[in-house]
Amino acid sequence: MTQFHARITGRDQQAMADLVRKYKVLVARHTVAKVAEGYCVDAHASDEQIRAMTADGYSVEKREDALAEGKARQAEIRPNAAAAPRAEFTVAKVASYLSVDDVEAALAAAVKAPFDEFTALIKLPNATWEKRVCQALKIGKGAGSRVGIYFLGGVHAREWGSPDILLHFIQLLTDAYLNHRDITLGTMTFTAQQIKSIVETKDIFVFPQANPDGRDYSMRKESMWRKNRRPAPEGHKKPSCVGVDVNRNYDFLWNFPQYFDPQSAVQNSTSPCDHDVYIGPEAGSEPETKNAVWMFDEYPHIGYFVDLHSYSEDILYNWGDDVDQSSDPSMNFQNPAYDGKRGVADDTAYREFIRAEDKKKAVKLANVMRDGIKAVRGRVYKTEQSLSLYPTAGTSDDYAFSRHIVDTTKTKVFSFTIEWGSQDNPTPFHPPYPEMKKIIDEVTCGLLAFCVAAQ
Ligand SMILES: [Zn+2]
Repeated sequence: MTQFHARITGRDQQAMADLVRKYKVLVARHTVAKVAEGYCVDAHASDEQIRAMTADGYSVEKREDALAEGKARQAEIRPNAAAAPRAEFTVAKVASYLSVDDVEAALAAAVKAPFDEFTALIKLPNATWEKRVCQALKIGKGAGSRVGIYFLGGVHAREWGSPDILLHFIQLLTDAYLNHRDITLGTMTFTAQQIKSIVETKDIFVFPQANPDGRDYSMRKESMWRKNRRPAPEGHKKPSCVGVDVNRNYDFLWNFPQYFDPQSAVQNSTSPCDHDVYIGPEAGSEPETKNAVWMFDEYPHIGYFVDLHSYSEDILYNWGDDVDQSSDPSMNFQNPAYDGKRGVADDTAYREFIRAEDKKKAVKLANVMRDGIKAVRGRVYKTEQSLSLYPTAGTSDDYAFSRHIVDTTKTKVFSFTIEWGSQDNPTPFHPPYPEMKKIIDEVTCGLLAFCVAAQ
């Protein structure tokens, strides 16, 4: 099997939609660019897919062989050093991606005295298919009414940098609070007073490694693995029949064939053997999804949520199923009158309702993260609605924001997805670590700025 990173150009928007509808190519969203020859997008495709597209008139620029390059990245990962001292897991000091065990060890180190005065480990209730137990961390000191902020990472197996980013965030924030120090990243400084205010007036929940089975498989076997490791259904022998895409498994328009227009280029699949975007046997079926959701239920004061993914340097806000509109509240994801009409970006048959003031606040917070990221080395992430030519269903950010609409007793959760890293990096899902370190710093800066701004 081969998987090439490729730049694909087609003559019009329909041709670009066909990449998903007809050729089942995995497209890095939000990068459909207008070029002289038509439209262009960054994607990953097999030799077979590339041949079929080329025969049908697409122009395909083959970039790196992702699996061959991935092997080089895999070879850099250190053997597990779970018994090593805290310094071994300090992201600022390590030279390669944290292994699955490293991430858990780093979390354990984050609650050793004296950090335990303001940090606590949270054991997630659902063991993964390979029987791993996941942990999250709460950072916060004091009681009373507090703002809850929740950062999630490591959902997609091959996006190796997200747990490292979140561990770096934890290490910087807890060290600075303990030592009454400022944090400076690039041109942005968070004062000791701001750090104190974050820790003493807000609860920060960090769940850095939501899909450890998938990460382990991606780091040791197939570097381009994305899903979890649910065993393949009986009678299915192909390796791609293992696993569910956790970020298509949430209870938001999950059963997409019922809700979406058949012509929609929705990036979801009902086939268990789809290599990337199988939605699972039912909404919320996966232990990884259940754990991510459990955090919202267990800590109902969570009002802000950021899910870390890669790549394409985007900061996305709701919604992902169709274009936002603020004029017709009845045109919404719960209304069955619109079943079969959702998910076509350039029509008016359906658009997803969001209150104007909510959208305004979401855009403002997305811009805060963008400015934090930019302060480190000038990379400007694009802030935009999650919907693109390729809509989605069953994702974490739409699920999180939909909770208060489905059940009005629940807290409104402003929700975002960050797609870190540039498409120009070799192996953009797991760039060489010297580049990843720069991404770690910039996204950490964006998250700290978010923590200051989220009220
Ligand atoms: Zn992802």
